[in-house]
Amino acid sequence: MGSFELINKHGDHEQVVFCHLKELGLKAIIAIHNTALGPALGGTRMWNYKTEDEALIDVLRLSKGMTYKAAAAGLNLGGGKAVIIGDPKTQKNEALFRGFGRFVNSLNGRYITAEDVGTTVREMEYVFMETPWVTGIPKAFGGSGDPSPYTAHGILMGIKASVKEKLGADSLKGVRVVVQGLGNVGFHLVEYLVKEQVVVTVTDIDQEKVKSVSAQFGVKTASPDEIIGIECDVFSPCALGAVINDQSIHRLKAKIVCGGANNQLAEARHGDQLREMGVLYAPDYVTNAGGLMNVFVELEGYSSDRALDKTVQVYDNLMKVFAIAKRDNVGTHTAADRLAEERITIIGKLKQTHQGFSARPFSTLREAKNR
Ligand code: NAD
Repeated sequence: MGSFELINKHGDHEQVVFCHLKELGLKAIIAIHNTALGPALGGTRMWNYKTEDEALIDVLRLSKGMTYKAAAAGLNLGGGKAVIIGDPKTQKNEALFRGFGRFVNSLNGRYITAEDVGTTVREMEYVFMETPWVTGIPKAFGGSGDPSPYTAHGILMGIKASVKEKLGADSLKGVRVVVQGLGNVGFHLVEYLVKEQVVVTVTDIDQEKVKSVSAQFGVKTASPDEIIGIECDVFSPCALGAVINDQSIHRLKAKIVCGGANNQLAEARHGDQLREMGVLYAPDYVTNAGGLMNVFVELEGYSSDRALDKTVQVYDNLMKVFAIAKRDNVGTHTAADRLAEERITIIGKLKQTHQGFSARPFSTLREAKNR
């Protein structure tokens, strides 16, 4: 299939930029999906793609996902993403990322990049040498640093919204939450939950993390295999994607699924199945938007207090999703997409009203007429 056919097949993207610097071995693709709400923002993934088509499909899929995430988060950002084809373990170097940064710069802020799988703050420093259109740079340069505590705070707000919706409770005191994965996000989430007097059970495939978290916070532990079957109020996936799948879904004994992992549903139909089972699903990309909110604040001039305040919005965003699900009689995963699409349509319409000429273009027009 040709590149344009692939682009047509995988969405209605505005712009796809192929970046090539032969001497540096740079092969990258930047995809801008939609800029109705603002500049397209999304990280740069470096991955050893087997084929160029695989890289193109990935960047098309990921950039579209960013449009929905930013729109549902209520941010004035569009969706974009970049991929660099190469092995992140052996092929990273200063020139490669500075070369890539120059392509980002040529888009004049239509696309703003950040770190993603295979890239770190170190490479974003190189990108920053060539363009201001990069976030996730070190704090010393005015960046926002590690997004995980903000992501975790947003998930806490998501759990509060879900508990209010499903159990009618305003407090999390005594609510039973099971956390799968004690990495950057899971660790901070447990810390927040314990402060709210939640009854927490944790698991991780890394036993060292389980030991240290249970010692630090006095929480219960379970084995990775049994975690999904534990009787609880909230199951919070904070490890891998596709945890809700054909094998696991019938073992689930939680009333709510609300966590930080990306792509928690193996397929959209599992969202419908959760609904039929009476389980409230807080859609992943609405729940884990705290990290994106944090990066957005970086664009305005970073303040950690303002970033934390912003993540509180996850509560209202989920409440909107739950209301749309009831209004349209659909699963919450479908309702989240509708929330995003409705905002893009309505805010996009504002831009149809011509705002008049600013002084300069107007005088330029007049001058042209008089010439
Ligand atoms: P991480 O790599 O720091 O942590 C993941 C943890 O999950 C690790 O401790 C790992 O040992 C554990 N794990 C892996 N497989 C497991 C299994 N089968 N059972 C139990 N534990 C398992 O990652 P993170 O930054 O904490 O992110 C967690 C999830 O949240 C990912 O899906 C990520 O894409 C998503 N996410 C993260 C952020 C962020 O700000 N870091 C933002 C949005 C979404």
